[in-house]
Amino acid sequence: VSRFEGITMAPPDPILGVSEAFKADNDEKKLNLGVGAYRTEELQPYVLNVVKKAENLMLERGEYKEYLPIEGLAAFNKVTAELLLGADNTVIKQQRVATVQGLSGTGSLRLAAALIERYFPGAKVLISSPTWGNHKNIFNDARVPWSEYRYYDPKTVGLDFEGMIADLKAAPEGSFILLHGCAHNPTGIDPTPEQWEKIADVIQEKNHIPFFDVAYQGFASGSLDADAASVRLFAARGMELLVAQSYSKNLGLYAERIGAINVICSSVDAAARVKSQLKRLARPMYSNPPVHGARIVANVVGDPTLFDEWKAEMDMMAGRIKGVRQKLFDSLSAKDKSGKDWSFILKQIGMFSFTGLNKAQSENMTNKWHVYMTKDGRISLAGLNLAKCEYLADAIVDSYH
Ligand code: PMP
Repeated sequence: VSRFEGITMAPPDPILGVSEAFKADNDEKKLNLGVGAYRTEELQPYVLNVVKKAENLMLERGEYKEYLPIEGLAAFNKVTAELLLGADNTVIKQQRVATVQGLSGTGSLRLAAALIERYFPGAKVLISSPTWGNHKNIFNDARVPWSEYRYYDPKTVGLDFEGMIADLKAAPEGSFILLHGCAHNPTGIDPTPEQWEKIADVIQEKNHIPFFDVAYQGFASGSLDADAASVRLFAARGMELLVAQSYSKNLGLYAERIGAINVICSSVDAAARVKSQLKRLARPMYSNPPVHGARIVANVVGDPTLFDEWKAEMDMMAGRIKGVRQKLFDSLSAKDKSGKDWSFILKQIGMFSFTGLNKAQSENMTNKWHVYMTKDGRISLAGLNLAKCEYLADAIVDSYH
C-alpha cells in the first residue's frame, strides 16, 4: 500500500485543464478558446521576429548560463521598470522603485503575496469579482486572506462602478486592492480614465495599498504607454504601490517565465529595504530566476531598433484580435434573430471576450460544438481567426437560446 494513500486526486485546472480536454477531442471543427495565447490567422503559435533577433544576438555574443543574482538580471530590471513607468518618471529618477525579476506574472504575484503575508499580517487583499482564476489560488497558498469587490454587472455586461466604489470604501482601512492595469481578465472591461481617478481617490482616502497586475501592457490598445496609464496615474499621485508584470502575452514569452514585481515606495530607503526582503523571500523558494527571457526583454526593450519593431508586431497582434472581435460581432448580429444587443463585444478590450454565457451554456459550446472555453463564459479571441467566426457565432446563438 502506498504511503501516498491519503493524497486524493486534484481537480483539473479550470483554464489549463481546457487545453487538456481540447487535445483529447478528435473532431476537426474543434476550437480552443480557453487559454489566452496568441495565435496567427492560421491558428498557429507565434514567435515574434524581435524575439528571434534577440536570441540570435545572444548566440553571437556567446552569453554564458551562470546564475543570475537573486533579484535577477540588472539590465532587465532597469528596462522593465522604465517600460512600466516611463524612463523619466520621478519615482525612477529618485530610485524609489524596488524591482525584482519574477517567474512571469504568476511568480511575481506570488512573491508579492509572500511579502504581504510576512509584513502585513492579517491584511486583506481585495480582488475583483470575477477575476483571473489563479489570483485566488495564489493568495490562498500564500495564506493571505482575500475577499471580492463588485466589478462586473451582468445586466449591462459592463462595469459595476458604484458597487466597486462602495466595496472599496467598506473594506478595512489599509487593505491591498488588486487591480488589473489594463484588459481586465476575464471580462475585457476596464474603468475609464475618470473612473480610475475616482478609484485612486477612494484608495487614498482609505489608506489602501494598490496592487496592480499588468499582464497585457501594449496588448490592450496596441500602445505600451496608453496601457500603463492607470499605473502611472497612481504613481503620479505619490502613492506607494505594487505592480506585477508579465511578458507572456506582449512578447509571446509564455514558457520563458519572465516578469517582475515592482514596489514603488515613498523613500529610497524603504525601496532598498523592500528589495532586500523580496530577495530573502525568493531565495528559499527558487533561489534565482531564469536568464533566457530576461536577456530577450533586455535586448528588445534596450535597443531602439528592436524596440520599434516590437511595437509594430504588438500593434499587428492587437489589430488581428480587434479584427476578429469585429467579425464575431457582425456574425452574431446577423445570425441572432432575438434582437439581443451584442455591442458589448466591441466595447471589451484585450485578448478575451466575456460572452455572458453561463456554465450550462458554456458546456453546450464544448459538448455540442467542440468549442473549448472556460465555464465562466470567457473566450480567448487570440485563439480565433476570421474563418471560424461564423461557426463560433452559430455555436453561441445556439447555446444562448
Ligand atoms: N494575471 C493575469 C490577469 C493574467 O491573465 C495572466 C495570464 N493569464 C497572468 C497574470 C500571468 O501569466 P504568466 O504567469 O504567464 O505571466
